[in-house]
Amino acid sequence: MQSATTNTITRSQELIELEDNYGAHNYHPLPVVLAKGEGVYVWDVEGKRYYDFLSAYSAVNQGHCHPKIIGALIEQAQKLTLTSRAFYNDLLGEYERYLCEYFGFDRVLPMNTGAEGVETALKLCRKWAYEVKGVEENKAEIIVCNENFHGRTISIVSMSSDHDAKANYGPYTPGFINIPYNDLGALEIALQNKNIAGFLIEPIQGEAGVIVPNDGYLAKAAELCKKHNVLFIADEIQTGIARTGKLLACDHEGVKPDVLILGKALAGGVYPVSAVLASHQIMLTIKPGQHGSTYGGNPLACKVAIAALQVVKEEYLAENALVLGERLRAGLRAINSPLITAVRGKGLLNAIHITPHKGKDAWDVCLALRDNGLLAKPTHGDIIRFAPPLVMTAEQIDDCIDIITRTVKSFE
Ligand code: PLP
Repeated sequence: MQSATTNTITRSQELIELEDNYGAHNYHPLPVVLAKGEGVYVWDVEGKRYYDFLSAYSAVNQGHCHPKIIGALIEQAQKLTLTSRAFYNDLLGEYERYLCEYFGFDRVLPMNTGAEGVETALKLCRKWAYEVKGVEENKAEIIVCNENFHGRTISIVSMSSDHDAKANYGPYTPGFINIPYNDLGALEIALQNKNIAGFLIEPIQGEAGVIVPNDGYLAKAAELCKKHNVLFIADEIQTGIARTGKLLACDHEGVKPDVLILGKALAGGVYPVSAVLASHQIMLTIKPGQHGSTYGGNPLACKVAIAALQVVKEEYLAENALVLGERLRAGLRAINSPLITAVRGKGLLNAIHITPHKGKDAWDVCLALRDNGLLAKPTHGDIIRFAPPLVMTAEQIDDCIDIITRTVKSFE
């Protein structure tokens, strides 16, 4: 028999408890349980509607359950889903050509998650260093930036400067040199080492709190890499695919990376798909048996990713992100509240810095935003990222600015 107290527990509370009791505690989600998504909206299990202002960390750029992407998924799921790379499938070649032409590269190596894409790029970079550049065996080094976020594998956390991401996962993978982000002097000094194989960088540091480097930094960094025969490796897993108002964040400075890593929105939040793109010379250093993944390049992923990339072009998502991003930041700056000490971003990848006020912090602001119908999550305690799906309209973004304004003002 259920007690009276149990009866008053909502479905959301029940589901939160279920996760809490059976799942690993490796996340700290905002207390809201979602059951449906469409475009810029998500609904919780009680039927309340919210604006999604996180877009699954920029995986859902095309909006939730985009009909064209879901259509591709359903169609292909009924035909062929996985062959492994032991055999050819009838979509991989078409997808590879599509991706190469779309982003202007010679070749692609398909993987599944972002972290796998980064691992692939690191391996590719080391192979190129030994087999093309001529670095002495086991001496290759890759420069990375402090406060980076590239995923969660042992090698990736080895180059992290985040204590929580890293602590007690040693021994760490050697071969990385950390320098401050947005510091060309530090890069120039690090590049003096003849064993440097690559420079791995997020064009905007997303997880660090949407840290936008100075204008010209990426272009100058790429130029320095070229001068020192070092690969410029762009992790555009979060910034790529229209998020910042261009197809790639590197496009803002006319930079073409030697190695490009994509993930997340490559499949519109529908399926895990990642990819590494490079020239013939770099990519062909990897030979059969030297790298791969059972699911990488599967026909379902290929079909979904082609549809997801078509949507980006057909619906002018980069152009929309550029215009709405300006509108959002102008609206956020106009709030003029003692709680908001910084507003920054590019396109629809934005953040506000919250200064605790009367004992309330960014987490409390996010809870209040949730109550007012908008979902966002703090990063690093005091920063709130605002990254809605790119299919948003001007009217909707104005509605969101209104919700954020009312919410922030309620704390003053
Ligand atoms: N690289 C960047 C820049 C990211 O933002 C992320 C995820 O947030 C990753 C890599 C890791 O991607 P995944 O979580 O799919 O492994």
